[in-house]
Amino acid sequence: MIERRKTRQISVGHTTIGSNSPVSVQSMVNVDSRNTDGVLAQIKKLDEAGCDIIRIAVPDEQASGLFKSARDQGIRTPLVADIHFDYKLALASVKNGADKIRINPGNIGESWKIKEVVEACSYSGIPIRIGVNSGSLEKKLIDKYGGPTPDALAESALNEAEILENFGFCNIVLSIKSSSVISMIEAVEKTAVLSDYPLHIGVTEAGDESDGILKNSVGIGSLLSRGIGDTIRVSLTADPIKEVKAGHKILDSLGLSDRGGIDVISCPTCGRTRIDINKIVSEYKNASENLSTHGKRITVAIMGCVVNGPGEAREADFGIAGGDGYGLFFINGKPIEKISEDKIVTKLIEETNRLVGV
Ligand code: SF4
Repeated sequence: MIERRKTRQISVGHTTIGSNSPVSVQSMVNVDSRNTDGVLAQIKKLDEAGCDIIRIAVPDEQASGLFKSARDQGIRTPLVADIHFDYKLALASVKNGADKIRINPGNIGESWKIKEVVEACSYSGIPIRIGVNSGSLEKKLIDKYGGPTPDALAESALNEAEILENFGFCNIVLSIKSSSVISMIEAVEKTAVLSDYPLHIGVTEAGDESDGILKNSVGIGSLLSRGIGDTIRVSLTADPIKEVKAGHKILDSLGLSDRGGIDVISCPTCGRTRIDINKIVSEYKNASENLSTHGKRITVAIMGCVVNGPGEAREADFGIAGGDGYGLFFINGKPIEKISEDKIVTKLIEETNRLVGV
């Protein structure tokens, strides 16, 4: 059982971040912000995929209207306005119903502009996420530390927070990101010790699906396993739905998710294997991908041989252990019947449906 770091708790729409709130999974719309229909369609898809909080880039005034359009369509998923520099876009997004603003106060400019943003967010009860990134660190900190080191990143985040604190505003989430996994981990660890704000964690510019999932699993997983991190984004150069699925998988693997789902245990195969385990796993995963388990967690084992299969998959609810052209179907480790290879996937799906009560 992972003991989570104690933090303040903030609300983002109907979701909370920090303290004992479940770790939430975020993603970001990557459709052109001028394409309202496209943005709304992607928000709906992300919501269906289990995205808890969705961020939208707001590069201009028109894009700030996306929040109102989403509400008009009945979308209730917490939405975050991603803004760089322009305080007016922050004000417009708050007015149009954004649930959180991502902006760095140090980039807004004059103090009266920061004050206006703080007042608007305070009035509407919405938090500000400060996002520090190794690629856009202030020059003075780079000079002081000789580069975007973990100390420089942590100091930058705390400096930004202090700007808001000086206006009496503490409804803050901090994120410190880097494309270097180890820098990100160290910077977040330092910040976690020096503040009690909830932390948004992830490896940024992590690459394509395979590289990005690996780097984020190491970075996010390492921190979460020690109780650090309150909301996550797996940044990928890929369909954002994949970010959400990967995020939930990371939480599942650490026992930090209460969403239920199907966990497939499958062996790596070896010289004893006599049936096509790769094909069976892939077909079962495809066939079960959109099955709702109604919050239940089901573990299915697909193992290559009867010698080690059932034993190695003792924790599984059910599964098969391969023989020569067949699979020995077992439930809770006990053998039930032999199933011919071509009928294994159907049997596994039938048993899955039975367990979830379909
Ligand atoms: S379960 Fe059997 S086939 Fe699979 S890796 Fe282990 S020994 Fe090999």
